[in-house]
Amino acid sequence: MGINMIKEKKGVRLDHISKIYKDPKTGKDFYAVKDVSLDIEPGSFVTLLGPSGCGKTTTLRMIAGFESPDEGEIYLGDEAINELTPNKRDTAMVFQSYALFPHYNVFDNVAYGLKLRKLSKEEIHKKVMEMLDLVELSGMENRQTNQLSGGQQQRVALARALVVEPSVLLFDEPLSNLDAKLRVSMRTEIRKIQQKVGITAIYVTHDQAEAMSISDKIIIMNSGIVEQMGTPQETYYSPKSEFVADFIGEANFLKGEVIGKNLIRVNGIELESNTGTLEIGKECKLVLRPESVTLAEDGIVPCEVVYSCFMGSYQNYHVMVGDTLVKLEEYNPKNKKIYQVGDKAYLNFERDTVFAL
Ligand code: ATP
Repeated sequence: MGINMIKEKKGVRLDHISKIYKDPKTGKDFYAVKDVSLDIEPGSFVTLLGPSGCGKTTTLRMIAGFESPDEGEIYLGDEAINELTPNKRDTAMVFQSYALFPHYNVFDNVAYGLKLRKLSKEEIHKKVMEMLDLVELSGMENRQTNQLSGGQQQRVALARALVVEPSVLLFDEPLSNLDAKLRVSMRTEIRKIQQKVGITAIYVTHDQAEAMSISDKIIIMNSGIVEQMGTPQETYYSPKSEFVADFIGEANFLKGEVIGKNLIRVNGIELESNTGTLEIGKECKLVLRPESVTLAEDGIVPCEVVYSCFMGSYQNYHVMVGDTLVKLEEYNPKNKKIYQVGDKAYLNFERDTVFAL
């Protein structure tokens, strides 16, 4: 089957892109996106991730051509595309609301872009059927779209975007209208289809689990700027800022001081820890992931248990280290000592699982 239809894989490059909007309340201009530079590799799946209002959708819409940047240039492959209208851009967008034509059946929804391009009837039929096969909707071509489930409608939207053979596929929170379970299965589907087709994909979400599970690289945005771009592992294990550490997964922060190269002091205790480029003598924060810390009778940092709850696969603890709350998850609690509220204990962790910021 002719699924391998990408003419040429193209990357996307944003070169110092900014977008300025007027705040409707104050009437003042502000940067919704500020000086963003990104290099998205051909054929990769990248996610723009961040809290509401951080500028993800605006960035995606500038790539699609629905908004134009006030500063900077966008490239698709080697071509500067700022001046091109959306339909001239070789990109296709899948929207949160699906944006299907309600009076068309499935076949005609998918065929729409091909008809505009004036392909022959036979060609249209062949391509649409191939696409419906790819998104596992074969046999549904005559259904009206209002007779489909949310997940099926999103598959139609995906087929409609892919059928015109764009070089880059853009997704604007495509799964947020689906229930939690379907969201999880659809994200796996989208990833599988993207890999099968080999297309470059740029995906907007505010759900970090979705971003982790689907992406080659995650771009974490905050207040219009890019905080970090990296693989899910890089952003989890080597976050560049407290914001990233807190946004990707759970994190505990213990106040400390850098007292030497890869040496910090926390609560009067000297610890080896990766200090990166931190200056000696400066304050820092030790980042502990909940799953990399255990409780024991003896150990590195003394603490007191203030919450203890059995969760099945793990025991959930909250402990106080001085005046700082630390949350941890102790897996396989059945074979371990269970600490109760009020117990004194120690935190233990593998030194290479913690780092300082
Ligand atoms: P969400 O997850 O809520 O969709 P987002 O990260 O996608 O958020 P954007 O939609 O890109 O954020 O918006 C970035 C900022 O720009 C927000 O403060 C938003 O209110 C503002 N904004 C977006 N569009 C406009 C507009 N047309 N005019 C004025 N301000 C706008």
